[in-house]
Amino acid sequence: MEILHISSLYRHDNRHPAGGNEYHLFHKSTMNTTQNRFRFYRRRLLALLGCPALPEPVQADIEPTVRCNLRCPSCQHSRWSRNVPDMPLTLFRHVLDSFPDLRNIKLQGMGEPLLNRHCIAMITEAAGRNIAVKIYTNGTQFSPENIEALVGSGVQEVFVSCDHHHPETLRKMRPGLDFTDYMRGVSAFTRQAAGSRISVAAWALASRELLDDFDTFRQFVQYLGLSRLYVQCAITSWGANQTVENFPSLEEKNSVKNGIETTFLHTNLFSRETPCPWPFYHTYISAEGKVLPCCILSDPARRPLGDLTRIPFHRIWNSRRYFDFRKAISSGNIWEECRNCYRKRMPS
Ligand code: SF4
Ligand code: SF4
Repeated sequence: MEILHISSLYRHDNRHPAGGNEYHLFHKSTMNTTQNRFRFYRRRLLALLGCPALPEPVQADIEPTVRCNLRCPSCQHSRWSRNVPDMPLTLFRHVLDSFPDLRNIKLQGMGEPLLNRHCIAMITEAAGRNIAVKIYTNGTQFSPENIEALVGSGVQEVFVSCDHHHPETLRKMRPGLDFTDYMRGVSAFTRQAAGSRISVAAWALASRELLDDFDTFRQFVQYLGLSRLYVQCAITSWGANQTVENFPSLEEKNSVKNGIETTFLHTNLFSRETPCPWPFYHTYISAEGKVLPCCILSDPARRPLGDLTRIPFHRIWNSRRYFDFRKAISSGNIWEECRNCYRKRMPS
């Protein structure tokens, strides 16, 4: 793998190459190990030599498993034949060791995280390193044992998929889901989490079926014991050149009603002026330890950036592939797979 001279990547004023916020080159708070101290002084030396090193990400998506018990038509998981073992705890620890500046992780990728039998241990491991952990779950794995373990794990945020209130419609959206078990499990979890410091919210994909009867849906969310609801308005096509389903008219409808705080999200649509932040601030680690561009391009066969089991992360982060990725985003000459993320705000 070719390693680039860092000065060729960034201007010397430490600004986002696509224009925007200043980088924070040095994180003193992370100097708690010999390795981190070494990295801190290495960066400082490079900066003194006029070659500021790009800080490694403070946030990452880590994929504990690619297994899922559901087959949602909206998910790329339902269409691929990727079959890899769950991430072992040793690899998870190696991933955490690879990121000296890591402050928060999303412990979920393409799959249901609670199917990895080490998921709770992973959360506890990360929380023990003062890393904030959030997970997204399809809500089908809330057995009494899992609920108790999750509530005591140190997780900070749990997002529960909740796409419709009508059993038949929900089964169509989430094939494999047992509506009664789902309701029982989610309600039991929210009851137990209510006395803890965990922030729990519902996560819905916008659909015409949902929006046609949104008030009833809000009541259902309330019935499940959830008081916050996020509605994802732009539904990705996972890098394929297809029309993205989008509900832009909802942007103005954020509200609190029936005790439910509702937020409509459009954050995954970018433009030349507000470019995708992934190549600069964020990264994705697959269950087998591959470094990938983002949660949408999370199939290692598409745009792999490096293998964390063989190459240290800082070398992958400063490699030719990552450089090309950043250049594509900052120049506006985006990859074909990125077009749907820009479709609504930037002509292709
Ligand atoms: S539950 Fe989540 S990971 Fe599983 S198929 Fe549905 S969207 Fe994909
Ligand atoms: S623009 Fe590209 S890299 Fe960014 S989130 Fe979309 S697909 Fe991923």
